[in-house]
Amino acid sequence: MAKLTCASCETRGEVDLRPGEGAFDIRGRWPDGNRPVVKCNSCEHGLVVQPRFDFMIWWPKTLVIPEETWRRMQRQWREQVELRCRQCGKTFTTERSLQDHMTAKHGLDSSGEQPRA
Ligand SMILES: [Zn+2]
Ligand SMILES: [Zn+2]
Repeated sequence: MAKLTCASCETRGEVDLRPGEGAFDIRGRWPDGNRPVVKCNSCEHGLVVQPRFDFMIWWPKTLVIPEETWRRMQRQWREQVELRCRQCGKTFTTERSLQDHMTAKHGLDSSGEQPRA
């Protein structure tokens, strides 16, 4: 995975596909569809990854996403990805309603792994 430097707090590290594992979490793509968006796990800022070629070395630069835009993106991510039923793809606005749905429709707890006793 690519190594990045946070444009806000200057943390350096790797992007990890597992949430909360690396220095940065993947948060989908910027609306132009080309540049990845990551969240810095140190300062919680959102960053747009700006790939560039410098002396033949690929070293992505990051841009800090403005606070207000980032808050909106965080909310959308939460609703569309984190609060999404892994069984049928339906989305929810609260953790509670997702759990209720999992239990009622699929007979599962929110982890999606164990059937209820
Ligand atoms: Zn940072
Ligand atoms: Zn479902």
